[in-house]
Amino acid sequence: MIRHSGGCHCGRVRFEVMAPSRVSVSECNCSMCSKAGYLHLIVPKSRFRLVQGEESLTTYTFNTQVAKHFFCSVCGVKSFYVPRSHPDGYSVNARCLDDGTVESLTIEPFNGREWESQYPQGRGVLPDE
Ligand SMILES: [Zn+2]
Repeated sequence: MIRHSGGCHCGRVRFEVMAPSRVSVSECNCSMCSKAGYLHLIVPKSRFRLVQGEESLTTYTFNTQVAKHFFCSVCGVKSFYVPRSHPDGYSVNARCLDDGTVESLTIEPFNGREWESQYPQGRGVLPDE
C-alpha cells in the first residue's frame, strides 16, 4: 500500500489516497459515469484524506440521493465522491491521480445501468482498511 496524491484540474481540490501501486479500478456504464469517463478506485474513508479544497466543492445528488457527487466549483472536475455502493467509503477518480505512483491500472467493467441487480444487498463491500 502506497500513498497516491491527486486532485481536480485547477488544483484547488487536492487529496491523498492509500492504495496499491498496481491499481484495480472499475469503469461504470451508468448515466453519470459514462458521460464523465470516471474510473472508480473505491477505498474506506480511513484510506482517504482531503488535503485542501473543501470550500471549493459543490455537491450534486440525484435519484436515490445517496451518492454525493463532489465537483470542484471552479474547474468542474469530480476527483472523488461518496458512491451509492459504498456510502461509508470514497470513490477516487483514478484519472485524477498524479503521475508517478501508479505502476499499472487494471480496468474492470461495471454494469451500473443495472445497479440494483449488481448490488442486491443495496451496497458493495469495501476493500480492507
Ligand atoms: Zn478545480
